[in-house]
This record gives sequence, structure tokens and C-alpha cells, in this order.
Amino acid sequence: MPSVADLITRKAAQEATCDTELPAEPWQTAQNASYGPGASRGDTFAPLPTPQSPLPARYTQASPEELDAMITAAKDKLGDRVKILGHFYQRDEIVKFADFIGDSFNLAQQAKAHPEAEAFVFCGVHFMAETADILSGADQAVVLPNLNAGCSMADMANLAQVEACFDQLHEALPGEAIVPVTYMNSAADIKAFCGRNDGVVCTSSNAATVLKEAFERAERVVFLPDQHLGRNTARAMGITDKQMCMWNPNEPLGGNTAQQLAQAKVILWNGFCSVHRRFTVEQIEKARAEYPGVHVVVHPECPAPVVDAADSSGSTEVIRRVVENSAPGDVIAIGTEINMVNRLAQQYPDRTIFCLDPVVCPCSTMYRIHPAYLAWTLESLLEGRVENQIVVPEDTAADARVALERMLAAKPC
Ligand code: SF4
Repeated sequence: MPSVADLITRKAAQEATCDTELPAEPWQTAQNASYGPGASRGDTFAPLPTPQSPLPARYTQASPEELDAMITAAKDKLGDRVKILGHFYQRDEIVKFADFIGDSFNLAQQAKAHPEAEAFVFCGVHFMAETADILSGADQAVVLPNLNAGCSMADMANLAQVEACFDQLHEALPGEAIVPVTYMNSAADIKAFCGRNDGVVCTSSNAATVLKEAFERAERVVFLPDQHLGRNTARAMGITDKQMCMWNPNEPLGGNTAQQLAQAKVILWNGFCSVHRRFTVEQIEKARAEYPGVHVVVHPECPAPVVDAADSSGSTEVIRRVVENSAPGDVIAIGTEINMVNRLAQQYPDRTIFCLDPVVCPCSTMYRIHPAYLAWTLESLLEGRVENQIVVPEDTAADARVALERMLAAKPC
């Protein structure tokens, strides 16, 4: 089976939608004002608060085999003192060293479940490391191997924009309770805003439960930052498109009239994931034409028509279970990030498993966790230095914890 890097080189070069240089070492473009090699050209870049410092030559000049040897040796010496957390969308060269593999919230909970560990090296993106820091103990460090590994979706909503949104909403709809619900894929200060304002966090697994619970407390909800997860979840609950509107933070009243806002039960922030918005109904139709009987499963970060056309939709964990519960000979087309799809295809060689998107556009920010960065952070820990520690200020963490705890307290519907 070709590697993700091979697929990208072959496919992305033919298309204008992805940057074509993903296989290049991420430190070569670390200072560029973009999400870098492999990024969807639909992304608008948000400047990095703390840019990654240059890597020492010992790491940038090492071969893949030398980096593997450095990581293995450092990991062995660190033992249980350090846990490596690997997201489902992470590249194989990293995932093979992970102590735990999972989605963002499962991995953050590992930080809580392992009080014996001194540090967690989070091989994911920035908001995930923040969540792990919020849930881990005060004396435990969370490290993000490359500070440039952000999330373009999370960057689409910042605190100043969200505060301005609520100021305008309260002015347009005086006296009304409006609850903010934020997807896990958001910055810690947005989660904290939700904690302070009767709001809550959700994941792609529990968005329906959380939204239902939010409607017990308010007539209206602002869903941040992913419009697609918000729309798909609300539609599945019977909320019509007419009862939803979109908030564009660059326009007065988010681009709505006061009357449109008054009619809306769900106000969707206009964020999106550039990886998942690439999936289309045409791709599903093509898969069905080529493989009659194919099961199509997509992530709810995909646009609503794609979710409607699929056989099922759900979080990365749901997608993993669909494959696990399939039978030898089954054909499964998946609408999510390519690293996860390729790994499932390798794990189940007796089934036909493929990504709906013929042009490979992986999560380019996740891809920035190159083995060189992992080797550097582990060897630094071994030498007593904590590089790239992600620290959420305690007042922000306390408010964010309130919103996370509300999520955990919500009962499944
Ligand atoms: S796949 Fe999309 S939402 Fe997930 S980390 Fe990457 S850019 Fe963010």
C-alpha cells in the first residue's frame, strides 16, 4: 500500500486545492505565513502566538532510521515518566511510538488517567495539548513537539470575535438567554468563555446530547466554531435550516438582520475543517457506482449534503467501529482524514477500505509533528529540559474546566 507521502506527491501535484510540498521537512517552511505544505488553499492563516524555534541540526540532518533510533532510546530511558499521545490523524512514523492512540478528548483524558507520568508529549495539534493541560495535574507537563501544529478550524474563532458576537446578540435580542456551545476543536480561552457564560463543550460523539441539554437552559444556542458539526447535529434533532443562521465575525450582526437572529434557534459560527469540507456528494455517487453495496461512512465535520448521502456518520471512534464491525469482503468508503483511513485499510486487509477523496489533502498542521520534533522533545526531557510546554493560565483553565464538566454531566439522549 502506498504511504500517505507517496499519495500526496502523486495526487496533490495534479490539483490546485492542496499545497504540493507536504512531504518536505516542516522546519523548511516553519516561518512561512501559511499553514504550510499540504494545507488546503481554503484556509485563512491565523498568526502563531509563539512560533516554533529552529531545530538543532542534529535532528534536521538525521535520517529517518537515525531519528527512529533516537526516539526509541529516549523513550526507553524515560519509561513511565513520559507518555506519548498520538491522534488518529497523525502520521504513521509518529503513531508507531504512541502509548495511546485516540481522538482529541480520549487522549486528553489519558493525561488525567496517568497521575504517575511527569509529562505527556501530545502528537496532535495545539488545542488538544491545551485540553490535556487543563485536565492533567498541576505538576505534569504537556508538550506539543512542534508549536506550528495548530488547527485551522480552531483558529477561525478567537476570543475577541466571540465576545463581540455575544455583545451584539444581547443588544439585538435583549433579555434572552443565549448559550455558547463550543466544539472541542477550539482554543482554551473559547472553552473558558463558555464556562463563564453558562455554556458547554462538545465532541463529535456527544454533540447531540450536549445540544439537547443546552436547549433545556436557553431558547438559542451559538455553536462554535464548526458550522458543519453544528448544522448536522441540529438537523438530526429536527431543527430546520430556516431555524439556523450563520455568523460571520467580520460583518455587523454576523451578516444577519435582527429578524433573522430572532428566528434562529442555532447560530452557526462560520468555521470549517478544510480536510472534511473537501468531501462531496459526487464522490459518494462515484463510490456507489464503482462498488455496489459499499458502506459510506463520513465524519460530521463534512457538509450536510455529504452526511445526508452517506450510510452513516460519526466521530473517528464511530468510523473505527464501523470498520471493526464489518465482515471480510465488505467495501467501506470513508470520509475523514487520510492517515486514519490508510491505517484502517492496513489493519483490515481482507476488506476494501478507501478514502472518498481521490485527492489526498491530509491534516497538514497535524503533519507538522515530524519525527525530528518528537526526537528533540524526548531527548530534551531526558536532559531535564521541557521544550514546547503548553501552559493554559489557571484562571482560563478553571473556567474551561467548568464547560468540560458540564459536557461530562450531560446525559445521553
Ligand atoms: S482535521 Fe481539521 S479540525 Fe482536525 S485538527 Fe486538522 S484542521 Fe483541525
